[in-house]
Amino acid sequence: MSLLIKNGTVVTAADFHRADVLIEGEHVKAIGDDLKADGAEVIDAKGQFVLPGGIDPHVHLDMPFMGTFSSDNYETGLAALHGGTTTVIDFILQTQGKSLRNALESWQGRMNGNLYGDLSFHMAVTDFNDDTKKEVREMIEQEGITSFKTFMAYKGALMIDDRQMVGLMQEVKEHGGMVIVHATNGDMIDYLVQKHRSEGKLSPLYHYLSQPEITEAEASHRFCDMASYTGVPAYIVHLTCEGALNAVRDAARRGQRVLAETCIQYLLLDASLYERADGAKWVMSPPLREKKDQKQLWAGIEQGSLQVVATDHCPFMMAQKAMGSADFSKIPNGHPAIEHRMELLFSEGVNKKKISVNKFVEVTATNPAKVFGMFPRKGTIGIGSDADIILLDPNERHTLSAKTHHMNVDYSGYEGMQLTGKVKTTILRGQVAVHNGEVRIKKGYGKFVRRNKVSGML
Ligand SMILES: [Zn+2]
Repeated sequence: MSLLIKNGTVVTAADFHRADVLIEGEHVKAIGDDLKADGAEVIDAKGQFVLPGGIDPHVHLDMPFMGTFSSDNYETGLAALHGGTTTVIDFILQTQGKSLRNALESWQGRMNGNLYGDLSFHMAVTDFNDDTKKEVREMIEQEGITSFKTFMAYKGALMIDDRQMVGLMQEVKEHGGMVIVHATNGDMIDYLVQKHRSEGKLSPLYHYLSQPEITEAEASHRFCDMASYTGVPAYIVHLTCEGALNAVRDAARRGQRVLAETCIQYLLLDASLYERADGAKWVMSPPLREKKDQKQLWAGIEQGSLQVVATDHCPFMMAQKAMGSADFSKIPNGHPAIEHRMELLFSEGVNKKKISVNKFVEVTATNPAKVFGMFPRKGTIGIGSDADIILLDPNERHTLSAKTHHMNVDYSGYEGMQLTGKVKTTILRGQVAVHNGEVRIKKGYGKFVRRNKVSGML
């Protein structure tokens, strides 16, 4: 089975040229002028960009939370393909007191047989002890799970202390993995949450006011220092603010490389939304920040201090969000974005001339593949690479709405927003997965991606 994409503009992180792309089986076979292939299905990409499929390295599908689950599961994760994201990395959460293997099996149970798109796992270590230590190597060598998530917040559930952090860093470094972090000061946040509750300050605005910028800046600096001491490859997830970005910049000044991701919502939305009656829609951690932080994040992308734009997709229905209608601390944290990261960043970044289309490819596909051990199999359009390719019309206008999106959630964080630039076709490993909104693959087509060891370099 072969597929020939003709007349498009092929863009990678490095190149920009008119070319045809020939796909044979699951892989790219040739890129060049005026290619021919007998019997191939031909797709005319005139006027469209031909780009590597997006890789979103930060999503939470079917994630257990407060007796319920995030509302998109592995099946409805198909929404990612509608928006041009072909591979995601989801988070397994270890239960404190239980093994990593136990958590892996429970996540595999929900995932197996249900995927449309490709998927890999990060392992969140919430209880690092002598038993967990032995499992780190096993995850890397046997399972192809090479990145280990840590939480510096959510005390009593997910948080590890600095003693555990340093121990985990040494073990992960020894076996060729990477430590990634939710960097906020959990004790400070706990104090502020309790203070606001005791004062009767219970609206969503106080979710924001309980996690001031300093809580993220302090923990980011501390994480960089511990990573410097241990020498482990290190990555900060969902970086939101100037203070945390300065921790990454300070690390760079002393010759240390700390990689960092921001998420699309932190570039486009700000904390004024928490003053609205429906502010719970945007309750996530860390919270949305200020306009001045957005400016810094765009600059960080341009300067290469931020290498990845992800989503932290973790949707909850409005009925689930209502669990916290009388108390902000009971609102499930998270918001929907898996479907629209690519189109939002293209419209607001590329079309508004904040970033180049090459930079767009770099932060949505190439860098996530390189950072997490999937390059050059994924993250680029190259001969022999997986044929994960999207066709994007840079001029088509469309409006985001919960009425038309494919995510399993009854609101949009961007309701009514008009975008320019739409993903028309998504190809995953040589198969047209979605074309003009029509799904052409079956549940179970998506594969688990075993990842290589990671160097912490790009
Ligand atoms: Zn997350």
